[in-house]
Amino acid sequence: MTNRLELLSAIADVLRNAGSVALCGHIMPDGDSLGSVLALGLALRRMGKRVQLLSPDPLPDQYLNLLPGAAEIQLELQGEWPEVLVALDCSDPERLGRFAPLLNSFNTVVIIDHHAGGIDFGHFYLNDAQSPATGELVYELLRALPADIDAAIALCIYVSINTDTGAFRYGLVRPATHRIIAALMETGIDTGWINRQLYEEQPLVSLQVLSEALKTLTVSSCGRLASMYIARETLNRLNARDEHADGVISYPRTIKGVELAMFFRELADGKWKVSFRSKYFLDVNKLASQFGGGGHYRASGCTVEGKLADVRRQVTEAALAALENEQK
Ligand code: 5GP
Ligand code: MN
Repeated sequence: MTNRLELLSAIADVLRNAGSVALCGHIMPDGDSLGSVLALGLALRRMGKRVQLLSPDPLPDQYLNLLPGAAEIQLELQGEWPEVLVALDCSDPERLGRFAPLLNSFNTVVIIDHHAGGIDFGHFYLNDAQSPATGELVYELLRALPADIDAAIALCIYVSINTDTGAFRYGLVRPATHRIIAALMETGIDTGWINRQLYEEQPLVSLQVLSEALKTLTVSSCGRLASMYIARETLNRLNARDEHADGVISYPRTIKGVELAMFFRELADGKWKVSFRSKYFLDVNKLASQFGGGGHYRASGCTVEGKLADVRRQVTEAALAALENEQK
């Protein structure tokens, strides 16, 4: 089934006919995965469906306090086994974390995603790598159902699109994105307030993490690669959780002349989570996939095992080679 409208309508049929549905986003949840899960979840509940809202990892406080229904998101399935699982913003089954082994136990699995090079691991697969956020695809699905988009649902979709586009700055933003945003605003959501919650109400510890990370900033001799890291020890000393390092990667990319920014964060198990961000031309999805990760053309990530010095050397070599090969 290649036609997008047919696919949307087939997914809408599946959801209309289901009695119970589970909705799940990805590990280390972000605004797009959570906003998408909640927007679709709230809409299906209003249609009378029994809905379980799932996340493989706990939610960052910021989203817990902002998104309607976020407090109902569970880390485990409970009670009735849902007929349908909808995976949102997940480019491969591993991104479902603890829920990945359960995939075969649902009658129907629907995937709604916008990652480049995503894997089809369901019965229905809606993937559009040109879409700036999964939230845009959820909006289209709600129109296809059809479902009413009230202010609570609008807020969730607004947060999805806003956060995955860096507040509407990134290249994938298209006229349709702004048309959707306009329609969401018509529901009466207060976008000024939402943006202040997203960008101007950080806990102090996030800035302390940023300050520590900036101390490690290095720029390659060619001036195009900027790199920073934060060790677990430092995060522990600051009493910081993973979510407090979330915005750090956006800083090294802002340096004039830098095409690629990398941020190494030590995970609780000692592995290193690497985030990549490029500015104009470098395909960082390709770069991350060399290390078993993935993502988008301009934002991607992977997890690498080893000592920091080895991991940085290995990843930096690959990054410089990619910059050399794809130079524009
Ligand atoms: P971040 O650096 O913010 O964690 O992730 C940037 C983008 O890359 C997100 O879209 C995220 O889904 C994707 N991503 C991050 N880490 C991984 C990974 O280990 N595997 C895959 N497939 N995608 C990742
Ligand atoms: Mn996304």
